Amino acid sequence: MIRGESYSDWGMVSIFRAFFRNLASLGGLLFALGCLVWLVLLREDQPRMATGWEVSPGWHEEGGIDDGEEGEKLAVEEGKKASEEVVGEVKVEEEGGKVVKRERPLVVVDAGHGGGDGGAVWNGIVEKNLALTLALKLKAQLEKLGIDVQMTRSKDVFVSLENRAAMANRVKADAFVSVHLNSAGNESGVRGIETYYCLNKSLPAVRALQAAFQLKTTVGLRDRRGEKLAAAVQRQVCQGTGSADRGTKERAYTVVHGTSCPAVLVECGFISNSKEAALLKTRGYQEKLAGGIARGVATFLHGQELDPARGLDLPKTEGPVLHGPPVKPDLLSQK
Ligand SMILES: [Zn+2]
Repeated sequence: MIRGESYSDWGMVSIFRAFFRNLASLGGLLFALGCLVWLVLLREDQPRMATGWEVSPGWHEEGGIDDGEEGEKLAVEEGKKASEEVVGEVKVEEEGGKVVKRERPLVVVDAGHGGGDGGAVWNGIVEKNLALTLALKLKAQLEKLGIDVQMTRSKDVFVSLENRAAMANRVKADAFVSVHLNSAGNESGVRGIETYYCLNKSLPAVRALQAAFQLKTTVGLRDRRGEKLAAAVQRQVCQGTGSADRGTKERAYTVVHGTSCPAVLVECGFISNSKEAALLKTRGYQEKLAGGIARGVATFLHGQELDPARGLDLPKTEGPVLHGPPVKPDLLSQK
């Protein structure tokens, strides 16, 4: 019994020893397994975290305009947008992926703001409503001049700025006109009309231009067509209405920056100015505004018809690029 007991005691000790030895190796095994799982998860995480940085080098290599950080942000946003559905009323006339050749020019008219975005509110005018009224009048005036029109919105709905530009790009519009009303806060004396354009287009717009004009490189490409369109519209609107001419201005507003066609944003007057607001409420003045914009667009398109690349500062791909004027020999000898 004693032996038996002692055997039994010895047996218990060996069982405990074996148990703890196995426990140690089990712990080691679990630890190793944990490390493996962690490594696998980390490897899966890496590409997700790096996506934004992986997109940008591609177009730098393609010879795109180097916008630095801005360009990288755009490239990331472009990737995001690819999965977004473009909403709105613009229909693409496509046959086997190619846009049908048009008999008449096509202009996309964009009524600023809409839906939850009312824009500025002054003197009883809500910008989104007057912008739509003017945009619909502009549509009618353009059609009278033999120009087809598609609206980004023809009712009180919200359309994102990016989608407005995307619509014009999808239908390969010949021009894009955004209609807005201005406000100067409590500086109620400020009045007049101004038109905005953008020279350095967004990356997708530049790519579209590169494809359309079969450019080898887009380095140095500047799109001055919007500037010309803005000048024509501004001149005609100010002549037609007799309003104060505040000139044309360059600014990268999303709707003019993201469009690959010549694009302008017309600020049709200050609703924060009580006199101009009163005028803007009258149907006669609204017609004059719409008529002026339409004539400006038609004048521009007529010139464009003769030379589609007119106003594009195309990159010079041949010969060495000179940085500044050559140094005069007499300046060198002065040293
Ligand atoms: Zn606005």
